[in-house]
Amino acid sequence: MPFVITDACIDVKDKACVAACPVDCIYEGGRTLYIQPEECIDCGLCETVCPVDAIRADDELPPELSQWLAVNVEFFGPEVTGWGRPGGADKRYTTDKDHPVVAAWPARDPAA
Ligand code: SF4
Ligand code: SF4
Repeated sequence: MPFVITDACIDVKDKACVAACPVDCIYEGGRTLYIQPEECIDCGLCETVCPVDAIRADDELPPELSQWLAVNVEFFGPEVTGWGRPGGADKRYTTDKDHPVVAAWPARDPAA
């Protein structure tokens, strides 16, 4: 039951969750962050610090957010980074790439 990052993080990326994660399983892409689902230990700390409520447990995703589990999983697969299970986020595992769903997401209105 990994936690997943959803669309509310796109173009926010304040990284409060990165600082909170005890196993460094939250990785930085171009417009958002992604949780490596096999490395996540389900502690829930990241969810408590996210200022925009972007993080959810995968089994608590409402239908409108259901695609975000696959987005987080596929970011680490051959479709995007090919990183697999890197064993901890660091500079080598930071990229400006994004999952196609994130890359196509409309830009956030700065006035909103
Ligand atoms: S639930 Fe815990 S282990 Fe998983 S991403 Fe969040 S802080 Fe990291
Ligand atoms: S704390 Fe929330 S908004 Fe900040 S980087 Fe993490 S998921 Fe994105």
